[in-house]
Amino acid sequence: NNITNTNNNKSKSKVEIKEKISVLSVEEILRDHVLSLNVDNCETDGENAFFVADLGVIYRQHIRWKANLPRIEPYYAVKCNPDHILLKLLAVLGTGFDCASKSEIQTILDLGVDKSRIIYANPCKQASFIRYAAQCDVRMMTFDNIDEIHKIKRYFPNALLVIRICVDDSKSICKLSPKFGAPLDTTEILLKTAKSLDMEVIGVSFHVGSGCYEENVFVDAVYRARYVFDQASKLGYNFHLLDVGGGFSPATDEVGKDCITFEKVASLLGPAIDKLFPPNVRVIAEPGRYYSASAFTIATHIIARRATIRNNDYNNSKDIKDNGTIITTNGAIDVTNGNSSEEEVDDGDDDDDDDDDERPLYMYYINDGVYGAFNCILFDHQVVQPKVLYKGGEFTFEQVIEEPEYSCSIWGPTCDSMDCITKKGFLPELIPGDWLYFEEMGAYTICAASQFNGFKKSNIFYTTSDLRIFDILYDDDYDDDDVKKI
Ligand code: PLP
Repeated sequence: NNITNTNNNKSKSKVEIKEKISVLSVEEILRDHVLSLNVDNCETDGENAFFVADLGVIYRQHIRWKANLPRIEPYYAVKCNPDHILLKLLAVLGTGFDCASKSEIQTILDLGVDKSRIIYANPCKQASFIRYAAQCDVRMMTFDNIDEIHKIKRYFPNALLVIRICVDDSKSICKLSPKFGAPLDTTEILLKTAKSLDMEVIGVSFHVGSGCYEENVFVDAVYRARYVFDQASKLGYNFHLLDVGGGFSPATDEVGKDCITFEKVASLLGPAIDKLFPPNVRVIAEPGRYYSASAFTIATHIIARRATIRNNDYNNSKDIKDNGTIITTNGAIDVTNGNSSEEEVDDGDDDDDDDDDERPLYMYYINDGVYGAFNCILFDHQVVQPKVLYKGGEFTFEQVIEEPEYSCSIWGPTCDSMDCITKKGFLPELIPGDWLYFEEMGAYTICAASQFNGFKKSNIFYTTSDLRIFDILYDDDYDDDDVKKI
């Protein structure tokens, strides 16, 4: 029955993906949607910001994972981007899932994913969520403290426990060790406690931190895990699971300290695991960002603009253009011919924003912000890159615009002044009605977006740049092992 159910759910997922997915390029979708809007006469939600998700990217990341880390089974971290179509594709591709809560577990089980392909990887769980995991028989779960062992013993004595250890996260943008992970000088007492309660502990997990930019920390963490395996063995446990967590970069080439290649991590991590852990030890990972970051692009509409009038200019101001959007001030800034008599000098010091002369020339207001998808700026320390999509009636996607650039700041649509996307950057002169786009918006964006001030979450259009996806979607006999063999 279970197998039939799983197959039915997989078939349903395939149908739904096929129905939603287009084969146009991301560029074509961005252009078609923007051009379809007659701004003066479109529906009331017509100009809303929107995402384009390229499932081909996710498929290629999966193949890349299998090619570089064949021993490690990816359990996608749902928290990173729980988009339904993305999850369905990963379920069809045969990944496992790292869930942080009851509702994530529910979502994944509803896709027909077998309970054995879920790890409840949150070391501090609400009691009722543990009872829920027990009801569904989702047995694998992490812990890192004594109280959690007692709690799990009470609500789910048959759970398969994984001890999460503390590792070096100093080389990661988002640190997790201040909150989670048992220091190595506490693991013995934790394991002894679990043993005394007759709880089954099956292995070790760690997380080097999200946005890790130094591959050696993975190797160091693997050595720490080996230490705890040996400790456990002395206490009578026979560990057979290693969970190397998340933190994998999606980057393909090295462009800076926050950008290491996945291949480089894999070339060190794979051999370290093979050296320290015999083949009977099953190895899983919890990648999030690696799968989803590059697959999502967001397009945002410039809903308003404010041209900065400096005190000096204001006193001498002689000309406000009658379209009400372009303010030309007396000699100091002539935006109509693109020349600025004032040189904008960015001294790299953000603290001088209140200084009149250092204020960006234009303030652009767009229709998604830090209370929406751009929450990644606050919570995930991301620096986003605006690019011009549509300017003055022309589609400019990936074109070099041969026009002067002006200093500008970019703001979200809410009434909060914290809702700032870029304090200072340079763009060609834009006006309300133009569009910007931002790439690499698939990780820790939509998942934490709110509807503060009544702004809806941005819609998603789906496409694929990789037609091999259809081999899977149209192959009724497709088996997860087919991808494992690639
Ligand atoms: N696993 C756990 C327990 C996490 O907390 C996170 C992120 O916070 C992840 C996996 C995913 O990390 P990443 O997106 O860096 O791969």
